[in-house]
Amino acid sequence: MANNEESRGLKSLFDWFANRRKSGSTSLERQEREIADGLWHKCSKCSVLTYTKDLKANQMVCAECGHHNRVDSDERIRQLIDNNTWKPLDEHLRPSDPLEFRDRKLYSDRLREMQETIGLIDAVKTGLGQINGLPIALGVMDFRFMGGSMGSVVGEKLTRMIEQATQRRYPVVIVCTSGGARMQEGMLSLMQMAKISAALQRHKDARLLYIPVLTNPTTGGVTASFAMLGDIILAEPKATIGFAGRRVIEQTLREKLPENFQTAEDLLQHGFVDDIIPRTQLKNTLAQLIALHQPVLTTPHMVLWETMSLTSTAAE
Ligand SMILES: [Zn+2]
Repeated sequence: MANNEESRGLKSLFDWFANRRKSGSTSLERQEREIADGLWHKCSKCSVLTYTKDLKANQMVCAECGHHNRVDSDERIRQLIDNNTWKPLDEHLRPSDPLEFRDRKLYSDRLREMQETIGLIDAVKTGLGQINGLPIALGVMDFRFMGGSMGSVVGEKLTRMIEQATQRRYPVVIVCTSGGARMQEGMLSLMQMAKISAALQRHKDARLLYIPVLTNPTTGGVTASFAMLGDIILAEPKATIGFAGRRVIEQTLREKLPENFQTAEDLLQHGFVDDIIPRTQLKNTLAQLIALHQPVLTTPHMVLWETMSLTSTAAE
């Protein structure tokens, strides 16, 4: 009996050494394990390994090739909004399934699964906050939740946020990323395009600033509505921006499309986008643009006056 236990103990010790030798055998295997642990990140563009902590410190932009990795809505809010100034809006709004839609799964099941695995209620976060001390209303879409698709909740939350901004005379910034309208909500999702656009028109009538930031990818109904209605339209480098997908257009036209088709760079060249801003400069650029467009009467430090006096000093 005792002998038996002893030999079992010996065997497990052998196993342990064998496993250890096996698992630590090559540096490549160790590397792969560490990537899986999330300690290191392998760039999908240039394959260079970066310490995940360093990548996060660089706002998820590869230091080697400048590839902009996707960021979720929480991370994006942290990157743009000053500490302790974020006040979320309408967090209680939940999606429903009025059409009782079913594809491979019930839409209601799909929603519940998404909410449980990702921890979001729907595909957008909205709120009020400050950017380098200036108040703004910010909406951030999240691609993880059903490809950032625009359903009734996305539409309603953005509309309410824009209405708050109009009332408070705040500029609006929306960080867009979306596969388009949410087909599971049919017509109700298409209606959101008109609703958000109408709210933006009232914001514009009040002579207030709206800046959409187009990130990878921005497509479909979002491109066809609020993503393209900005006073100044910014994009992240190499972002895919378009309406219909590349494959659909190629099949319809029966033509091969150029390599850079539907990229931020191509859109900049053709005047659809006003500037391409690397993520690491986005916060300061937004703050500068907002400061320059503050209504003169409510500007606390008279930014416009400062700009004018700077120009006149330069002229002297
Ligand atoms: Zn890279």
